[in-house]
Amino acid sequence: MIPFAELRQRVTAQDAVEFLGLKFVRSDAKNARQHRYSCPKCKTADKDPLAINMDTLGFTCFATPQRPHGTDAVGLVAHCRDVSMSEAAKMLADHFLTPVARAAPPIAAEAPTSKVFTVTITDKDGQVVGIGDICIDDTR
Ligand SMILES: [Zn+2]
Repeated sequence: MIPFAELRQRVTAQDAVEFLGLKFVRSDAKNARQHRYSCPKCKTADKDPLAINMDTLGFTCFATPQRPHGTDAVGLVAHCRDVSMSEAAKMLADHFLTPVARAAPPIAAEAPTSKVFTVTITDKDGQVVGIGDICIDDTR
């Protein structure tokens, strides 16, 4: 199964741009978060046909009249590398969702190592004769 949702959460526009090795040309005059890149797929005279919104990951490539566009890193990789959406997703998953990248944040180093259990002591008739705590210290 291709983890499209996880890729959307985990891969930022900056990640995708670095992954693709896109060459930054300029920021859009009207929107500084809209960056313009040369497109590794479309070889045209236009030196900055690829517009990527660094906040939303929406992109449009203005190199061809079809203006390929999309809304996520998968679509961007699919366009720039000229592969299908599933191939692009697999490339991104291999790169960004590897076991190392997936690793949970480290747990607190000072986690308690002893456990306290509450025990109820009953006599042979089931009458409660006492309640107490026992501490099992597994640091030894
Ligand atoms: Zn293009």
